[in-house]
Amino acid sequence: ENLPSDVVLENTRRQVEQACFSYVNPKLAQNPELIHSSVDLAKNLGLTAQDLKSNDFLQIMSGNSVYPNTKPYAMNYGGHQFGNWAGQLGDGRAINLFEIQQNNKQWTLQLKGAGETPYSRQGDGLAVLRSSIREYLCSEAMHHLGVPTTRALALLSTGEKVLRDVMYDGNSAYEKGAIVCRVSPTFIRFGNFEIFAARQDLKTLTQLTDYTINQFFPHLGKPSKETYIKFFDEVCQRTLEMIIHWQRVGFVHGVMNTDNMSILGLTIDYGPYGWLEGFDYGWTPNTTDAQHKRYRFGNQPNIGLWNLYQLANALYALVEDATPFETALETYKNNFDKQSLEMMRSKLGLEFKEASDVQLIHELEETLLLSETDMTLFFRLLSKFSVDNPKRSLELIKPAFYSEISNEIKEKWLLWFDKYALRLKKETLSSTERSKKMNAVNPKYVLRNYMAQLAIDKAEEGDYSLVEELFELLKKPYDEQPENGKWFAKRPEWARHKIGCSM
Ligand code: AMP
Ligand code: MG
Ligand code: MG
Repeated sequence: ENLPSDVVLENTRRQVEQACFSYVNPKLAQNPELIHSSVDLAKNLGLTAQDLKSNDFLQIMSGNSVYPNTKPYAMNYGGHQFGNWAGQLGDGRAINLFEIQQNNKQWTLQLKGAGETPYSRQGDGLAVLRSSIREYLCSEAMHHLGVPTTRALALLSTGEKVLRDVMYDGNSAYEKGAIVCRVSPTFIRFGNFEIFAARQDLKTLTQLTDYTINQFFPHLGKPSKETYIKFFDEVCQRTLEMIIHWQRVGFVHGVMNTDNMSILGLTIDYGPYGWLEGFDYGWTPNTTDAQHKRYRFGNQPNIGLWNLYQLANALYALVEDATPFETALETYKNNFDKQSLEMMRSKLGLEFKEASDVQLIHELEETLLLSETDMTLFFRLLSKFSVDNPKRSLELIKPAFYSEISNEIKEKWLLWFDKYALRLKKETLSSTERSKKMNAVNPKYVLRNYMAQLAIDKAEEGDYSLVEELFELLKKPYDEQPENGKWFAKRPEWARHKIGCSM
């Protein structure tokens, strides 16, 4: 309203050149309702539980009012999707509201599903209840698991209907519209750098990189060629750490395109993600990737590396020397082997480093793959392993098997348990201490695919009690909780092929 009269506001879908973002206001929501909010995160932002109940909060979170003196914007980025350069993508259904400084930390609040932007391409800029519940519950659950992630402050329904292709049958139907308010220091992705490199727009690329370093990597020093390399190096390390956490808890992102890779090494964009039930390197939750399984569980570390190559290609223009990038990528590869070994040792409760651990872990993975074995249950139950009576262990981990195992497989397990017992005898921790340490890295509760689906099914009927129940449960994923085995349990058989999807 206050712009000079000669300024033309153009907010149609388009290629946005030489700009990192476009101002755009959220769409008005007809009948917004707050479904849930994260009191825990709100505190970090300086908001009280009372604030979350206010009408102001509802109006701002639904996009119905813009906080005074702020200018919401959508960001410009490109990306490699499933290995191919896709050109400009951008925030097609995400709008950044404003930034909050609290306790020396910067947070950006972003609405996902608040209407179209110049980057919406053929989409409507909206989100449905089902995908919003999945993002809301999972991102907070990941935080409590200790996995670097964007957060979620609020989940709302808009009171509007959104047209979508429904899962499985491909038919369209109207679904309930929803918005998630996501929170992160920044939502800048690898793709933000790639778009300007692809357009050979060195000026904007430099601006964006300098901004990113000054704001989020100030410890690296003032931007310079050396700093750009240090920056890339740190992004490599953070990305690796994030992916090792995914492997530890059995999280499969499902759509690791470069536009879904956070420059801060945070898990971002909870779309077709899923959790391993049976331990399986080949598993992907993404039905559109069922043929090539590019984003399968076991391939996530490689894809992380592939994506970092794309980022290196983008930043190369700032440095014009490939060697330091190659060195950083080489380090990622070496560190991956080291850090994943350390991670697996921690899951097994091994404190000392023995050269033979690699073999022990390899044999465990092979044995886990012999029959469908629930990853979460297996590692959690393993903390009760008795060094003095390895034979008893088969009974112990029995609840993790999805079907009766053959005598041949039983023998293989007994062999492995014997080796594990021998190895544990070299350790000095008491079994109680070991068990405690293992339980701090092997979660008891994760957001199993069917759990999210149950919460969604109820929510579609207007009952949000399961959203609340799961949200509370997943705040303490490593603790013993009084749930009588309701959630510390295998996926029920009816849910075998049911996984929510991303749209
Ligand atoms: P994703 O696969 O969720 O990472 O999205 C890839 C690209 O599609 C991003 O640029 C999104 O902003 C855009 N996109 C996804 N869904 C929508 C939608 N409903 N409306 C507009 N853009 C969308
Ligand atoms: Mg995305
Ligand atoms: Mg998405």
